[in-house]
Amino acid sequence: MDLMEKLKILSAAAKYDVACTSSGVNRGGARGSLGSASACGICHTFAADGRCVSLLKILMTNVCVYDCQYCANRRSNDLPRASFTPREIAELTINFYKRNYIEGLFLSSAVIRDASYTMEQIYETLKLVRHVYRFNGYIHIKAIPGADECLIRAAGLLADRVSVNIELPSEESLNRLAPDKTRESILKPMNMLKNNIIQSREEVMLFHSAPRFAPAGQSTQMIVGATPESDKKIITLTENLYKRYSLKRVFYSAYTPVSDNPLLPAAKPPLLREHRLYQADWLLRFYGFSADEILKNADDNLNPNLDPKCCWALNNLNMFPVEINTANKRTLLRVPGIGSRSADRILAARRVGLLTFENLKKLGVVLKRARYFITCRGKMYEKISMDPAILEMKLTESKIREAYKQLSLFDEPAPLADSGNAAAPGGIIYAYGHI
Ligand code: SF4
Repeated sequence: MDLMEKLKILSAAAKYDVACTSSGVNRGGARGSLGSASACGICHTFAADGRCVSLLKILMTNVCVYDCQYCANRRSNDLPRASFTPREIAELTINFYKRNYIEGLFLSSAVIRDASYTMEQIYETLKLVRHVYRFNGYIHIKAIPGADECLIRAAGLLADRVSVNIELPSEESLNRLAPDKTRESILKPMNMLKNNIIQSREEVMLFHSAPRFAPAGQSTQMIVGATPESDKKIITLTENLYKRYSLKRVFYSAYTPVSDNPLLPAAKPPLLREHRLYQADWLLRFYGFSADEILKNADDNLNPNLDPKCCWALNNLNMFPVEINTANKRTLLRVPGIGSRSADRILAARRVGLLTFENLKKLGVVLKRARYFITCRGKMYEKISMDPAILEMKLTESKIREAYKQLSLFDEPAPLADSGNAAAPGGIIYAYGHI
């Protein structure tokens, strides 16, 4: 099979891996090396100048000895199979880089032969890319659960980010749909990665030249909608993963039907569910919310009509309205329509004088949401009853109006924060935003 044919098969097979990856790595170009990974990095906002970063996203192989029912590459599925050698991937990466197609590599793999053999192949690839071809750009790899820890550690010293997929939101679902994997085999390497990342950071503080282990941290991916777990269960698991394993990101991937197994749903879950989970995830990471505040009961799901912060505000109206000119940052962050950047701007602008609604608009506050929950100099934006049903109607009304507004031919809609990335043909993906 020629290289082009392999590339077609293995880049298409990689489309289920979410690789929207934040670098946070600040590594400039080095003499005798190719590429760099600067702080603003591999993850650029999809800015007005169109800057985004492209990664070559491929699988090492789609030949798999495992039989995970939610995966197209499972051994029982009849589909064309292919494998790259480490040298083929290294050459592809370098050639694509030199042609300016990509700036980094995202490498994942099915389990060929066994977990350790697969991890060894990934490690061999990294060695070639880094040491032989002197590629200094961004690399994100998937660690294979169950692989020898020495191999994962050796690979982590060459990659910028390493991730282990948590796969499904509960152990019960994992046992049912991925009988070759265990919760233990996934959490063990996650813990090992966390310890190595912490140790490496400490060593780098002491000795600047100490080797860096996965400097962009670790992330994970969870399939949503293949199994019956509620959103509450998913965000509680997410919260625990952030706390216990110091993950940089949890990615959610809406299940794509790839099997007629009766244990799996026949239809794809709505993408909006994935989006709401990303919003809740954002609240956990940057807004000081806990999973229990976002959803109360074990079976609760996020409201598809309203974002999780608005829902929380409607359930806690006793905490509103908030006076913009006196509230502290934590309180400001709880107001729908006020993001972390606008909260900082409010705090800075308040030092100069009292703020008005007009000022808030200029500071980036989304008044069509915030107006119901704030006062400026003691006054509300408009007279309105603080009745949750009325406020919910007002908030959803503005969403409906937004959904039907005339599209401009010239203003590109901004990509949804953290909603993933667009896969381009030939395995090249563009990573946007805060990734
Ligand atoms: S290990 Fe499971 S999820 Fe990964 S490629 Fe094989 S079948 Fe798919």
